[in-house]
Formats: sequence, structure tokens, C-alpha cells
Amino acid sequence: MAIAAHPGDAVFAMGAAVALQVHLGGQGVFLSLSLGEKGSARIAPAQYGLLQQEAAERAALALGARAHFLEYPDGGIPVSEEAKLAVCDLIREHKPNIIVTHWRGSWHKDHKACYKIVNDAVFYAGLPALARKQPPHEIRKLYFADNWEDAKDFSPDTYLDISPVFDRWLEACAAFPMWRGENGFRYNDYYGSLAVARGCLGDCKYAVALMSPSEQLTRRVRGL
Ligand SMILES: [Zn+2]
Repeated sequence: MAIAAHPGDAVFAMGAAVALQVHLGGQGVFLSLSLGEKGSARIAPAQYGLLQQEAAERAALALGARAHFLEYPDGGIPVSEEAKLAVCDLIREHKPNIIVTHWRGSWHKDHKACYKIVNDAVFYAGLPALARKQPPHEIRKLYFADNWEDAKDFSPDTYLDISPVFDRWLEACAAFPMWRGENGFRYNDYYGSLAVARGCLGDCKYAVALMSPSEQLTRRVRGL
């Protein structure tokens, strides 16, 4: 399950990992906390939000995954109990083993908000004493995605070989109007070449780099 502030983040920075899980026989869910409706200087938010939603749905379908949206305002995603519980409920409903989300080292307030919401939502989802419609669900692993806007102190520890799904994922990303740089940032060049560079470090053709919460890296051993 990829949980992002905006639909583009979910597919560009987290989509290859989701595509690979589906390729390996798993299931994938994209959850965007907003429609990213304020992402265009040319197109009015109401219309752009629809375009973003349609693109995310097309991309998810192409990757064999599902897309969900919580329509918090773009630029104003609230770090509220309501938002944390809404994400908790979706985690309990979809029961993911693995969640990929934003790293906190972002300049973007929505990305930082998403990091905080997801961390608490994961905790709430697994909390047996918290009664919601669905029973508690504990995820196995949480990872933070490699995102150009979340680069501060991003220190990857996991290189995931996405070679089998690289082409399919690039095609899925192209569903977004912003992918080719209309909004000023060359997403296609950045994320396409990043997969090559991460592949060099990951000893494979194409890779995405992921970062684990530090506590997830703790090893408990009986000898060295
Ligand atoms: Zn974003």
C-alpha cells in the first residue's frame, strides 16, 4: 500500500514498488490524501483535481492495483486525529503487509503531514484497544520512498530490483499530465534516470531505493 500526499507522488515515487509486489503475486493499493488539485498554474483546481484522479486511476489499473483518494485540500492536508483515523480505517480495510510513504525530510508541508499521519495511522491500525469498524491490523514493514521533494537526510538502506516492471511503471506514470514536465519539473527524466542510478548501487538494471524506520533495522542476535 502506497500512501502519498498527492497522486503523482504515489505513482512516481512509490509506484514501481507497488508494481513489483503485484508482479510477484501480491496486491497493490494507492492511497492519495489529496487530489493534488493545485498542481497546475494553467488549469483550474477543480478540473486539475479530476485530471489527477483519472490519471492515478489509469496508472493503478495499468499496474494491476487499486486507487483510493481522501480528498483533503492540496496544500492543506491536516495533521488531525480525523485524518489519522481515516487512514487507520483504510489500513484495517486493505490489510497491507507493507506500507510505503513519504520520508519526513521534505520541504513540502503536505508530504511532512503525510509522514506524520501515516506513522500514527499505522500505530492506530494495530492497536487492539482502538475499536473501529474493522478489526486491528498490524503491518509487517514500513518504508519511506525516494522522492525529489523529500531528500533531506534521506538515507536508503534497501534497494529493490524493479527491472521486471520498469517499462510498465514508466508507461503508467505517463498517464499524468505533469509527467513530462508541464509543471516545471522533469519527472520522467528524474525518476527514469534515478531508477538507473539506484540500479547501479543495487547491483541490478533498475532499482528503487527505500529507507526503513531505524527501529525496523534492529537485529536481535545470540552471537556476532
Ligand atoms: Zn507531492
